[in-house]
This record gives sequence, structure tokens and C-alpha cells, in this order.
Amino acid sequence: MTNRGFDFKRCARTALATLVLGMPLYSLSSSSDINSQSSMLEQTASAATSKTQKKQTVKQKPTQKYHTQTKPAQTQPAIQKQRKLIAIDPGHGMSNSQSNVYDPGAVRDGVEEATINLRVAAYLGQDLINRGYDVVLTRLDDETPCPITKRNKFSDADLFVSLHCNSSKSEETKATGVRVFYSPKRQSDKTFAANIEDALSQTLTEGVQGYSEKNKAVYEGNFLVLNTSRVPAALVEMGYMNNSFDRAYLQEAEKLIARGIANGLDKQLKTK
Ligand SMILES: [Zn+2]
Repeated sequence: MTNRGFDFKRCARTALATLVLGMPLYSLSSSSDINSQSSMLEQTASAATSKTQKKQTVKQKPTQKYHTQTKPAQTQPAIQKQRKLIAIDPGHGMSNSQSNVYDPGAVRDGVEEATINLRVAAYLGQDLINRGYDVVLTRLDDETPCPITKRNKFSDADLFVSLHCNSSKSEETKATGVRVFYSPKRQSDKTFAANIEDALSQTLTEGVQGYSEKNKAVYEGNFLVLNTSRVPAALVEMGYMNNSFDRAYLQEAEKLIARGIANGLDKQLKTK
């Protein structure tokens, strides 16, 4: 494990440590503590569920409690990485682009994109741990500051995936389904993006009645989070917030979405 980009990683692991057992993420995901981490991820998903059900509210600034609790984890010894590590970025959240300002992403009918992203990320993390991978998340809640410039600094990860939901300016759009992006500056990531697109669209076609994806392309996306990644990176737009069909499966089929993405990550790591 290197220390490059360590500050934020430590922050993310500390969030896990603070929320769960007071231990860094690696030790949770690479040992007999898998069940503990799974239950934590389940709690994260559940917490996000309750948020989904309420209207948008004004977010509070991060509490002092969070900052003071970062200290114990800093004294934890580094644990050597033994398994493939996948970095998951639930898009948006606190201080995403502006300090101390909560960024909900797209919002429709009181449903916040940031909440869906977090919820799918929790299920995805759990699914990947069950498959034998180590996982790190860029954020676990809506309070921990998580600036966009720090999100992809996992230099020792094997893959980085950023989760988002699409939207357009219109109230309701006919555009539907998954879009997966890779950086035009990282052409080698196109196959990675295609693996996620294939797996996720297949899983949704099989599991969501009425889902059909006519355009199974992957797209170049000039996104900071992709362009500056040090490892293979893809950004998944899991559906359209302003398409009512998509918004329904985004809220009701999170585990299925997570499984589809996990299938794509699995394929990428097993075939490269
Ligand atoms: Zn987004």
C-alpha cells in the first residue's frame, strides 16, 4: 500500500472506522470481519433508503465530531494489500464542488441523485466483498466532506468506478437507460466501460420488466474524476432521474443495479 493520495483515502477509511468498528477498511474487508462490513454497508443502504423517502432538506455542515474522530485511525498500522481493491465513488454529496455545501446532484420529485448513488454504492460494496474483493468508498454518508478533486486518488486501487444518475433540463425525458463513460484521455479504459455497460444492461434487461436498451454504446466523457484517475476508471449513469420509468427502477432495483455493475467489474478483473 502506498501513501500517494493517502489523505483522502484515510478520510474515507476513517469514516468506515468511525461508523463501524474503529478499524481501517482493509482489515475489515480482507479478514473474518467481512460480515461486519457487510452489515455496515447494509446500514448505509438502509439509511439512504429513509432519506429517499423524504423531501429534500437543508443539509447541515459536517459536525466537529467527525473531525475529532479521525485521530485514532491515523495511528493504525498500514495493512498490506493482498486482494484486488475496487474504489467506488457515490457521486455528489457534501462539499463535492463547494466547501460545506451539500450537492444532491439531480433532484426530481424530492428524490436526490446523491442518495441513490450512495445506496447503490453500499450494495455494490457488499456484493464485491462477497465476491472476494477489497472495497473502498469515497463517501459513506452525506456529511463527510468529499471534494471532487480528491475522489479518484486511490492510486493503489485496481479499478475506480463513479456512480451517477443522468438527467436533462426537461421535466420528463424519453431518454432512458444506462450510459457508461470513459475518459478521452484514457482510451485504454474503453474496454472497462464496455464491460460494465454489457453486464449492467444485461442484468437490467433480465431483471426489470420493460427495460430495454437500444443503444449499447459507451461514451467518451470529459469528466475530471475520469481524466485525472491513476487507475482504470469508468463513470456509470445508471438511468435518468427525469424519466419516470428509470426513476422507479433507480429507487427499487438498487441491488440489481449493483449486481450488474459488479458483474462488469468482475469481468474486467478476470479478463485483463
Ligand atoms: Zn451526477
